[in-house]
Amino acid sequence: MARLCTKVFAMTEHGERYRVKCLSCGYEKLVSDLLSISLCPRCGSVLGVNHSNNVFRVDLMGRGVWRYSSLLPSIPERISLGEGLTPISKFGSVWIKNERFNPTGSYADRASAVIISYIKSCGWSLFTSLYERDFTKSLVRYAQSQNMQCRVVALGMNFMDIDDILFLASKNIEVSFNIDNEEKPFVRYANPLTIEGLKTIAFEIYESGVSAERIVVPSETGLLALSILKGLNELRESGIDINYEIVAVSLKNSSPSYLAGVRDVKVVEIGDGEAYEALKNVISKGFNTKPLSALSIYVAENFGKAVAVLTMGFKTLSTRSSNVKRMIIEVLLQEKRPLTAYEIWKTKPVYTLRAVYKALKSMELANEICFDVVSKGMRKTKVYKLC
Ligand SMILES: [Zn+2]
Repeated sequence: MARLCTKVFAMTEHGERYRVKCLSCGYEKLVSDLLSISLCPRCGSVLGVNHSNNVFRVDLMGRGVWRYSSLLPSIPERISLGEGLTPISKFGSVWIKNERFNPTGSYADRASAVIISYIKSCGWSLFTSLYERDFTKSLVRYAQSQNMQCRVVALGMNFMDIDDILFLASKNIEVSFNIDNEEKPFVRYANPLTIEGLKTIAFEIYESGVSAERIVVPSETGLLALSILKGLNELRESGIDINYEIVAVSLKNSSPSYLAGVRDVKVVEIGDGEAYEALKNVISKGFNTKPLSALSIYVAENFGKAVAVLTMGFKTLSTRSSNVKRMIIEVLLQEKRPLTAYEIWKTKPVYTLRAVYKALKSMELANEICFDVVSKGMRKTKVYKLC
């Protein structure tokens, strides 16, 4: 049976509807369900939620992406598995925003948190999702954390990542290959809620205060670049004076379809030979990542003064150790002063002191945290700070 969420969780200036706007051509429309719409009917790009009052305010009590709830749709059920607040660290001459520290190792977790919160708030316990590499795995993990059932529809096995097939099979997920079967609620990767989740990367880059002039984003479709652009525009509308150029990197002959006609994003296409050399170079420096992420590091190095967004990596960290790291970053952001390992542990004693020491050591080695050595009484001790 087709179902539609007709609940708008807060009265908007348009009554019980959301205003969505194309991030490319500006086409606008009023809708009552944010998952029932897909692409712009005029130009084929993506539609984002238009908030009436943009005020950037950090909610220190908000978990994960809900830290930025003032700029997210007001959704009563706020689900988070601790996504976001991923480290930003120096790698050679560039900064890297490392999204593999998200709960499932992918930037897509930011989108899943918002989508699953929305689905839960609509009162649905079952939904269908069109398969998309990396995204589907994350969405299924978030759905299962809420005991929701997710069915997957895919174009064919040969369009699927082998790791994803194994993951879905191991979780006993129903996968169908009949794409005409758009049973509602139906979740596609490109929808306004995905954009809301992904744009929080822009807020975190701004909050980190790193000195850079551009953000380099790996781009297959261009959705991530447009989401970050939306985040930056909302910060500006909040009265924050920031100015980053967005550079979208793609492989030659596969230009990101949603970016056609977008003036505020610079698209850089790299040929296969150059891309392979870039990947070899990044791997030789100890980074194990997907080719398009390696390309964004390479392009960031070439442009200079840049933050490269690393959407995901192959290395899997234990969830526990990435949670400790996230807690450390959270405490340092909150306290706004250098802290010793003991002080960090004492502020939020959710893990053992030993786990905090261990996480700090590994963050030190990966240049994900900076420290000073200071004298405390008769002995010297390290105080940690964000780089
Ligand atoms: Zn459009």
